[in-house]
Amino acid sequence: MNSLTTSTSLQSIKGVGPARADALSAIGINTVSDLLHYYPRKHLDRTTVTPISKLKRDMAATVIGKVEAADMRRGKRRQYFQAILSDGKGMMTLTWFNGARYIKKAIKVGDRLAVNGKVEFFNGFQIVHPEYDKLKDDEDPVNSGLVIPLYSIPSELKKTRLDSRGLRRLIKTISDGLKEIPDHFSPEFRKANALIHINSALRNIHFAESEDVLKAATHRLKFDEHYFLQMLMALRKSSLQQTGTKALNKIGPQVKLISDSLDFELTDAQKKVIKEIKDDMARPFSMNRLLQGDVGSGKTIVSVLAAAIAVANNVQVAVMAPTEILAHQHLFSFKKHAETAHMTCAILVGGTPTKERRAILDGLAEGRIDIIIGTHALIQKDVQFKSLGLAIVDEQHRFGVLQRGDLTSKGLNPHLLAMTATPIPRTLAITYHGDMDLSIIDEMPKNRIPVVTKVVEETRLKKVYDFMKSEVAAGRQCMVVYPLVEETEKSDLAAAVEMHANLSEKIFPELIVGLIHGRMKKDEKDAVMDAYARNEIHILISTTVIEVGIDIPNATVMLIEHADRFGLTQLHQLRGRVGRGSEKSYCILVRRNFTDNSKKRLRIMESTNDGFVISDEDLKIRGPGEFFGIRQSGFLKYKIADMVTDGPILRQARQAAFELVKDDPNLNQPQHELIRMRFMAEYQDKLDRVNIS
Ligand code: ADP
Ligand code: MG
Repeated sequence: MNSLTTSTSLQSIKGVGPARADALSAIGINTVSDLLHYYPRKHLDRTTVTPISKLKRDMAATVIGKVEAADMRRGKRRQYFQAILSDGKGMMTLTWFNGARYIKKAIKVGDRLAVNGKVEFFNGFQIVHPEYDKLKDDEDPVNSGLVIPLYSIPSELKKTRLDSRGLRRLIKTISDGLKEIPDHFSPEFRKANALIHINSALRNIHFAESEDVLKAATHRLKFDEHYFLQMLMALRKSSLQQTGTKALNKIGPQVKLISDSLDFELTDAQKKVIKEIKDDMARPFSMNRLLQGDVGSGKTIVSVLAAAIAVANNVQVAVMAPTEILAHQHLFSFKKHAETAHMTCAILVGGTPTKERRAILDGLAEGRIDIIIGTHALIQKDVQFKSLGLAIVDEQHRFGVLQRGDLTSKGLNPHLLAMTATPIPRTLAITYHGDMDLSIIDEMPKNRIPVVTKVVEETRLKKVYDFMKSEVAAGRQCMVVYPLVEETEKSDLAAAVEMHANLSEKIFPELIVGLIHGRMKKDEKDAVMDAYARNEIHILISTTVIEVGIDIPNATVMLIEHADRFGLTQLHQLRGRVGRGSEKSYCILVRRNFTDNSKKRLRIMESTNDGFVISDEDLKIRGPGEFFGIRQSGFLKYKIADMVTDGPILRQARQAAFELVKDDPNLNQPQHELIRMRFMAEYQDKLDRVNIS
């Protein structure tokens, strides 16, 4: 035997005919190597299988047993299929309402099944629509200590009658026939990082003799996935560091003028990140830095000082924000400081009138404008700079990578400072933004009083409204946020309008209640915001257009309707709109969905004001794809790695990958050939910002 190599095509394997080869190819499996890297979706062993006698209501469990009875039953409306499963010590019911006829053909009395699903209690334990796999009689992980792999079987494979068991047999054939696979990591490296040989890992991930070996195999394969993604990040970073740019190392009067004019003292965290930015910009290589800081942590002044450093070096600064409201807010903050330091600044947005726009474009091209603030309008073709030296991007996760590139391409590799108030969990940050340096403001200005958060149900709303009246009577203002979900935008908008009518006419007839939403024209929005800022509106109802960007220190109550419809990170952002002044502030979350899950989620908001804790929870609940929105979810190729739980492995792999790239920035040293080949196999479609070929 031992005649197969990793590149052997699957057609030549016994049990794979042309139809199966096509089906496998359709899901990206073409070679022996691809099939070896098709890891089980889970394993059955003593630690993952629960005896029926130990089941509890609501647990997600895997159970193995024999089908004792199976038949269609008559329900009120239609027939369903039910099977009784016994594991020798207990019995349970499996029920299928959907696809009952199909299941009836598939499951017979006497079959041994591994089933998985949420356990309910209904005349005994039952699982409705369980996931199931058929097992052979001698496949008994509970009593034999055996580990049985189960694979996902996409519909392509099902059509060729390849099931989990068939796939297992196939992988066994190649695993037995395969020559020793050379490891891309050296023995010394493996020893230093406590990794088993790749050969052993790839075999044991499928056919482990014990739970311990399986663990070691899993660890090794997770490490590899993190390692190669981090290698991509390291290569991107190193290619940026090889890109020369103007060093902004002159110190002009601007920074001092602004610092001296502040009516507060910078926090230690702000001082630390300003130093990091300053040191970066002083080097003749492009800065690529992500500044993270919770809402209200004071990122704006940091960006103002970065801009001042740039202007002192005779280059221009572009500040890009995701919305017009935010751009105006930035203009407001920048303008004050710009005047103090004798810098010129202007704003360019989609709605800027043509004549004004012309003047601004000239000012930029001739270098008369030092700082330009704006939205997407900044990346249009005809916007030209005399010398763009620093690009600042606020809430950078809201922009695609492309737009960021578009902005930086307007200068000769300007320094880039990206800012975000979404506290991205560290593991996620170094996965998605692993090519950037991180600066974190982890400290709030000292004068802040934490916002008090309460989750309420409809029955308590009257009390809440009374409380809002008393706050307004004391001279303060309130906000009510209504969710606007894109697909149902119309009806939600209608609901917000209706709510405005109800609140202004029935609940607060004696107060001024305003409304702002995304469908309003810009002037209308501005007029409402101005009135609110002047305290001519007591209670402002808004859809989430207000999420970022408004800074009204007099607002002390934030009421969020249908709070269960928002992500935790978003709720945290909204909550950050209050508590900006010297008065105690409140965030009221109205829960109108009564699942346990929504309760648990909203409780987290009550228990902490720490954006990092919240984003970690959010990541656990929603997963990384949802976390940033769908846009980025195609990026990760993780098969076995998990950034929520792999923190330590990820950091270890990152360090190792960065060390290697530091040593061999173009991956062309002969001893790295295998690593390079493996890297290229994974990431050859992502080499656009990397200096290797
Ligand atoms: P964010 O990080 O959310 O962008 P901002 O930069 O808007 O926060 O800052 C929020 C408010 O805190 C602003 O009014 C700002 O002037 C103020 N601020 C910033 N730094 C400090 C500080 N060190 N001490 C007190 N107030 C500060
Ligand atoms: Mg901000």
